[in-house]
Amino acid sequence: MTTLFISDLHLQASRPDITAQFLKFLDTRARDAEVLYILGDLFEAWIGDDDPEAHTRQIIAALRKCVDQGTPGYFMRGNRDFLVGERFGEETGFTLLEDPTVITLNGQRVLVMHGDTLCTDDVDYQAFRRMVRDPEWQTRMPGLPVEQRRQLAAQARDASSAASQQKAADIMDVNQGAVSQAIAEAEVDILLHGHTHRPAVHALDIDGRRCTRIVLGDWYEHGSLVRWDAAGYELIALPRA
Ligand code: MN
Repeated sequence: MTTLFISDLHLQASRPDITAQFLKFLDTRARDAEVLYILGDLFEAWIGDDDPEAHTRQIIAALRKCVDQGTPGYFMRGNRDFLVGERFGEETGFTLLEDPTVITLNGQRVLVMHGDTLCTDDVDYQAFRRMVRDPEWQTRMPGLPVEQRRQLAAQARDASSAASQQKAADIMDVNQGAVSQAIAEAEVDILLHGHTHRPAVHALDIDGRRCTRIVLGDWYEHGSLVRWDAAGYELIALPRA
């Protein structure tokens, strides 16, 4: 059984090269796999499941086709597409996953997360995250007109990229204490996440246990994938045609 994991594609109409590679991926590798997990930030922004934009509708239709052709999918929200809701799940056929979730692969328990909750040194971002994950905020947001939500999303994006440029690189990475805590609480040996755009396999020692942290990469220059089967896992860079 082959399970695939991807994250951080940041799909947007202005990057047709990423969209084309993703559509091809769904039609080839994903189609040949048994399960596909998308661990957040599939989309650069998500203003609500009722977004009528053609690019968004094209992606939803492609995800639906992937499921209909026999590859079930799981979708975890990232910090960019945290407003993905039930309707997206119904339209795509993907099952929405809470962050974090523990899954079992070939008898091994694996903790999967988007990864932003591990970046605890970035206090500004964690404050923003608490605000937008607040149930009251989430109830109010979908009631706003599409155009107003689009403007709010653009403002949030500009503010976050301006702030990122001023922050030290290590602040934007995971906090090792947060990693150890997440692994210990979930009682697993393996953590798999995205978000930081730093693809790697890290060996860790946590309370005398040998643990592994696998980090998916983004799709800005090429694709990034974790392929997991009975023989184990592999972190793969997918060249762009
Ligand atoms: Mn992210």
